[in-house]
Amino acid sequence: MIDGRPGLLRAAYDVVVAGGGPAGLGAALAAREAGAERVLVVDREPEAGGVLLQCIHSGFGLHRFGQELTGPEYAQRSLQAALDHGVDVLSDAFVLDIDSDRVVTLMSPDHGVATVRSRATVLAMGARERTHGAIRVPGDRPAGVFTAGLAQRLVNLHGVLPGRRVAILGSGDIGLIMARRLSLEGVEVVGVFELMPFANGLTRNIVQCLHDFDIPLHLSTTVVGIHGRDRVEKVTVAPVDGELQPVLGRAWDVACDTLLVSVGLIPENELSRQLRLRIDPVTAGPVVSSAMETSRDGVFACGNVVHIHDLVDFVSAEAELAGRNAGLFATGVQPPDDNVRLQPAANVAYCVPHTVSTDREHIVYLRVRKRMEHCSLRLSTSDGRVVHERRLRYAVPAEMVNLRLRPALLQDFHGDSLLVEVVER
Ligand SMILES: Cc1cc2nc3c(=O)[nH]c(=O)nc-3n(C[C@H](O)[C@H](O)[C@H](O)COP(=O)(O)OP(=O)(O)OC[C@H]3O[C@@H](n4cnc5c(N)ncnc54)[C@H](O)[C@@H]3O)c2cc1C
Repeated sequence: MIDGRPGLLRAAYDVVVAGGGPAGLGAALAAREAGAERVLVVDREPEAGGVLLQCIHSGFGLHRFGQELTGPEYAQRSLQAALDHGVDVLSDAFVLDIDSDRVVTLMSPDHGVATVRSRATVLAMGARERTHGAIRVPGDRPAGVFTAGLAQRLVNLHGVLPGRRVAILGSGDIGLIMARRLSLEGVEVVGVFELMPFANGLTRNIVQCLHDFDIPLHLSTTVVGIHGRDRVEKVTVAPVDGELQPVLGRAWDVACDTLLVSVGLIPENELSRQLRLRIDPVTAGPVVSSAMETSRDGVFACGNVVHIHDLVDFVSAEAELAGRNAGLFATGVQPPDDNVRLQPAANVAYCVPHTVSTDREHIVYLRVRKRMEHCSLRLSTSDGRVVHERRLRYAVPAEMVNLRLRPALLQDFHGDSLLVEVVER
């Protein structure tokens, strides 16, 4: 169905967007506003909106709308804006392939396997959750082990509780939000166990979801065993040493019937790999220019498929950029060239975009590798000359750092690569 009307799929579009979460919907709107006439968003779920549809808590849109919206409200605003601007939204349709000529193959109950041509394509497929299999938790394989996002879907969309006494492995935002959500439903949350010596979620979520509900957070602790015949009966947890190895002599058992795993998201880049895009090994997403263009002309990307965002507001800002440039590309305008490569250096895991230009303003997103207090974000040349320095009160891996890079900051810089580092003062 396209916007509730079956059978209107065209053979060719100016821009086709794979994925109808906030990134895809935002990009489609921006492409229309940039002059693309025919824009199609394809989403595999029955309704567009992405992961926001299951996030019924508030906290979305503070930066963008200055309002605290729930996930579905934010998704509805994004969807309505796209529809109002004449974007076609095809839900219940899976993008199977995008070839190097930007021919998109999709599959849906209404259209079977169909191909559509596009002048420009935007990748906005989001991310999926890492499972307990991916981190190889030893023990039995009873029922009752869920990813936190699956539990969220069960509770918020299907009205089903995953269990009655829950332990949570990992302190990512989804696990924290589920700790609160389940507590509100009368489920006993016995604790959150985090391998690292710091929490992996936003500070506001630690306070609002754990402290406010007296749920203990055990740092430097992990689950070393899952026990139960048919259903989880208990898990064994143990502290870890400085090398993150469990100290089994100090392990203890925690009675529970459910283990939720909240150990990170993985960008969904099967389509990107089929397209042979350059992938950043740290973000596991495509390498992008300041126009959010990937290593293939006319293929743009935004949102969680590029790097994992903690706030949807930044997803929408990035989507606007990708969509605008895709729309312009479709009307024959090439994205502007970049002349500087950003290289993550001391304590910086990655930077997006990967390249920038000295004559335009950019927002650069980055994540640090470890927790630091009173530090400085520095841009410097490979021979150690500091080009720009900004003080940060603190930096933690869970919170993306944004740098507004204005041409004035780089007026004395004439090289072709800049080191981006965060150092303690
Ligand atoms: C549990 C949870 C809580 C969160 N809480 C907050 C919060 O409080 N505040 C906040 O600002 N942010 C929050 N976020 C973050 C925010 O929701 C995400 O950053 C944002 O949804 C990412 O948008 P996206 O469009 O990149 O990805 P998604 O929302 O994941 O959308 C991607 C879409 O692409 C579709 N898709 C994927 N592959 C294909 C394909 N091959 N064919 C067709 N469709 C495809 C998927 O079905 C999905 O609909 C939260 C996220 C989660 C998971």
